[in-house]
Amino acid sequence: MPATGSLEVITGPMFSGKTDELIRRLRRARIARQKVQVFYPAVDSRYAESGFGKVTSHAGAEFDAAPVRAAQDLLRLVEDDTSVMAIDEAQFFDDDILRVVERLVAGGVRVIAAGLDTDFRGEPFGPVPALMAQAERLDKLQAICMQCGEPASRTQRLIGGKPAGAHDPVVVVGAGELYEARCRAHHKVPRE
Ligand code: ADP
Ligand code: MG
Repeated sequence: MPATGSLEVITGPMFSGKTDELIRRLRRARIARQKVQVFYPAVDSRYAESGFGKVTSHAGAEFDAAPVRAAQDLLRLVEDDTSVMAIDEAQFFDDDILRVVERLVAGGVRVIAAGLDTDFRGEPFGPVPALMAQAERLDKLQAICMQCGEPASRTQRLIGGKPAGAHDPVVVVGAGELYEARCRAHHKVPRE
């Protein structure tokens, strides 16, 4: 009988420790001698800057990983003896990721997906909210608000030091802007 698969989702704003937590679980799987494969969407340029082939956390942890262009590619890339498949920055995948994850889990794989649940406007981000609904296990992490030091559940986008407007594009890959974690009270999205 094939092993029972499951989906774990790790979510929360930027700097909440999603990638650190993902890497912690992957290291434990390795200790258990389970085969692990790790992927990230090729659109995420942060990894291009720090060198392709790794997922990296803001605290400096890293784990070998491969870029994929589309969710469907994961079905081609998963190897027969893989027990754990991890996906970081899941918010950048298309909605195909939902069916792909379902297929992998049905095939006995433990899938761990990390990603932002909301964008800088505080709106649901890509397929992550739907993945959260599918998950057996869900961890919603908080960062620290850079304004007041309270727990932060949101990602503030700053352009030239000022809060970015609601109508600025959601994904600006590699632009010289700044993101910081903020609590609900200090999260600002000018709408005009
Ligand atoms: P995520 O993947 O959610 O963006 P990471 O795992 O990459 O988060 O990074 C988490 C680390 O970021 C923390 O352990 C801490 O060292 C660092 N960090 C920097 N700014 C903050 C912040 N505002 N709140 C919490 N941690 C922060
Ligand atoms: Mg991360």
